[in-house]
Amino acid sequence: MEDFQNLKAQLTMTLRGLGITDSSVLSAMEKVPREDFVPVALRQHAYENASLPIPMDQTISQPYVIARMTSALKLTGRERILEIGTGSGYQASILTFLCRRVYTVERLHPLLVEAENRIRALRISNITFRLGDGSLGWPETAPFDRIILTCGCTKIPDALLYQLKIGGIMVAPVGDGRDQQLVVITRTENDFAKDYILPVRFVPMVED
Ligand code: SAH
Repeated sequence: MEDFQNLKAQLTMTLRGLGITDSSVLSAMEKVPREDFVPVALRQHAYENASLPIPMDQTISQPYVIARMTSALKLTGRERILEIGTGSGYQASILTFLCRRVYTVERLHPLLVEAENRIRALRISNITFRLGDGSLGWPETAPFDRIILTCGCTKIPDALLYQLKIGGIMVAPVGDGRDQQLVVITRTENDFAKDYILPVRFVPMVED
């Protein structure tokens, strides 16, 4: 049995060294056992600052990118967040410690079922799961205070932009294949202000 506590502490130090200063984000990340979200054969790599493969040709993001995205959401604990791309459920779990409720959408049924089982096993209850095409958002529960896309798109679907509250923040990987950037969008009264913060590489959003 690996000493995950020690590896986890080292990862926190690495993230601090890379400029992640938001201690609420770092402590939420410490609360979630990343080893439970990666394939069993890769558990010993769970606390490396690297993205890892998960089933069905998808990936769990690099911890640094997760920390940047989570920090960019500027959470106070009161938000309702929409996540597109549940994947392993790792990012969603971290968010549950920082907001009121997470609504997460995944199009691949086996991934959604596994993510839900893991998260229930951790006794996290402020999260709702949905199977479907996340490019349509979740109209019945919109608008959201925050929206996070964990799959890349060439253009953010309008349906998602308009499900963001005025004053709300969205974080998304946008661009073509190799040229993808993490964009932070703040919705103002009559506009969407965009800020490009980091080059990234996410699996594509697939519209059904
Ligand atoms: N946030 C995840 C990583 C997600 S990988 C984690 O922490 O593990 C991207 C995920 O987006 C994949 O699981 C993929 O199936 C999903 N996805 C791609 N297009 C989608 C769509 N249109 N709607 C919902 N999920 C989508």
